[in-house]
Amino acid sequence: MKYQIGIDLGGTKTEIIVIQNQTILLRKRIPTKKDSYESILNTIVELFYIAKKDISFHSDFSLGIGIPGIYDFRTENVINANTTVLIGRNLKKDLEEKLQHPIFIENDANCFALAEATLGAAKEYQNIFGIIMGTGCGGGIIINKKIYHGRHGIAGEWGHFSIDPNGPKCWCGNLGCIELYLSGSGLEKHYFNQTQTNRKLPEIIQLYREGDPIASQFFNQFLENFGRAVGGIISIIDPDVIVLGGGLSNIEELYTLGYERIKKYTFHPRITTPLLKNQLGDSAGVIGAALLGI
Ligand SMILES: [Zn+2]
Repeated sequence: MKYQIGIDLGGTKTEIIVIQNQTILLRKRIPTKKDSYESILNTIVELFYIAKKDISFHSDFSLGIGIPGIYDFRTENVINANTTVLIGRNLKKDLEEKLQHPIFIENDANCFALAEATLGAAKEYQNIFGIIMGTGCGGGIIINKKIYHGRHGIAGEWGHFSIDPNGPKCWCGNLGCIELYLSGSGLEKHYFNQTQTNRKLPEIIQLYREGDPIASQFFNQFLENFGRAVGGIISIIDPDVIVLGGGLSNIEELYTLGYERIKKYTFHPRITTPLLKNQLGDSAGVIGAALLGI
């Protein structure tokens, strides 16, 4: 039986997983050396050989890699990666040369959506929108259990949809992107701009739960933005289910009060779209990468 190997290239850690027959045989993480493109390649190659030493798989394996950026299938180059040394690089070709094996490359949010659609919270559904709300905002669309890429490979990138033309400038060059309002880092910055007080998101949420008026106003605005952004997704692709991932998926209010706001902003009076918390947690990205080779 074929070995399915997945590597999740993260901003701080890179992880490998080896699956055979739906059983996880090995998982390992090492810090990502991202000072140069060469260091990234070396991190991946090093991890691959660490795994190969433990489990002596030979030619009968598939290898998928999830990256924090968009892989343009036409030019075979990485675009829009927040690990900026990847931008403009042909990671697939360079790794195939080093490892002498075919490689599948995919955006990490697409890997998340594929994993949840195949083995996680959305395995009973065909068409899925996977949302990641963490340090940034990513997303992936699964149609009939397969990743939908779109013309440019950017399908599902809802985080860089502008919801406020007068909003702050995003790293992508656009103004008022969703990511600035619905990611952990964006919310903390936003809170500081409004209150001149530096607070971490869990602290802000705690204050809201204790009834602090400033935190309450801030949190309600967050729920409103969440509803507007997710309602827009439902109106456009009307998925069978939405799965939330990333650190912010642990905010319980999103599934209750947040869902009420989604209803308000969807172009249908009585939506029934389930909004589910992920089941695979941190592992979704690396599992999704391993599933690319099926
Ligand atoms: Zn942006």
